[in-house]
Amino acid sequence: MSIIDRIINGEKLSAEEWMEAIEYTDGEEIRAAASSVRDRIYGKKVFARGLIEFTSYCRNDCFYCGLRKSNREALRYRLSSDSIMESVDLGYEAGFRTFVLQGGEDNYFSDERLIGMIKEIKSIYPDVAVTLSVGERSYESYKALREAGADRYLLRHETADSAHYRVLHPDSMSQENRIECLHNLKKLGYQTGAGMMVGSPGSSIRTLAEDMVFMKELNPEMVGIGPFIPHSSTPFKDEKRGSVELTLRMVALVRLMLPHAMIPATTALATASDDGQLQGILHGANVIMPDITPTEERAKYMIYDGKKITGDEAGENLEKIARRMETIGYTLSMERGDYIP
Ligand code: SAH
Repeated sequence: MSIIDRIINGEKLSAEEWMEAIEYTDGEEIRAAASSVRDRIYGKKVFARGLIEFTSYCRNDCFYCGLRKSNREALRYRLSSDSIMESVDLGYEAGFRTFVLQGGEDNYFSDERLIGMIKEIKSIYPDVAVTLSVGERSYESYKALREAGADRYLLRHETADSAHYRVLHPDSMSQENRIECLHNLKKLGYQTGAGMMVGSPGSSIRTLAEDMVFMKELNPEMVGIGPFIPHSSTPFKDEKRGSVELTLRMVALVRLMLPHAMIPATTALATASDDGQLQGILHGANVIMPDITPTEERAKYMIYDGKKITGDEAGENLEKIARRMETIGYTLSMERGDYIP
């Protein structure tokens, strides 16, 4: 049996076998297989999520990220709860039924403040899903946010390789903690998102293979994958950008390994290549996350250089996005779009 068939059959591959799958399988063959697996489960639909980047403050110092606390040049902002609600109102009117609240790890957003926001959104719009992406917190905190009504949580594992984790993060951070957070989120019944950058400094085919082994075990409901893109005011400013082709290959392999996963065609993919978003869909992704952050703050949420902010992928261009999806035979779905187990 071919290695692709073994992945489709749900077999657990070793890291060595994943390395072989990543390096030696035919790109077009995995793309076509991934696309048909996605079509079988979710149809020709691409689910839209309204992304609200509500704080650019961060207490962490990840070497790759433009929001790291040591970046004195970063422009910092926090949206007020009125401003967040306004974004939700406008987004709801535009048709969004999932809102993703993403931000740096900002102490200002205590459990109490986040709970207030979640409850307000859910009481006015009981039919929407709320996705949080605010980094590592305690079990008790995740539990309280879940009880307040949060449905989903995005927390990329970033890398499953411990030596690679140390290349990307300062000593104050711990891979063990991040992985424990992911297990806690699963335990609490969140639809949980993991994922990684492709081509970050210190990454290799082996670290990507370890990511696959890790995610097979974790079985996340969502997986975010994008190319690493350097940011000019970080220690990685002179590092190479990750390969778009390899990123697409990883998207397709994740689709084959986790057929039911919700997989976004990420902004990083759209930033790295003009047709990155469509290529992501053609490689098995089934979610897009148009940015609906107020335009004035949007430019300040710069996790990497050149991040697309008001381009054709942005929230105000939904019609354009829909038409672009149609050119490749897909429809933009504004449904809540929960994970199908
Ligand atoms: N603070 C939250 C949200 C982080 S931003 C958290 O910790 O989960 C979302 C993702 O952007 C990160 O998980 C990381 O994988 C990605 N990212 C950060 N810097 C990047 C860069 N320079 N290039 C590409 N992706 C990057």
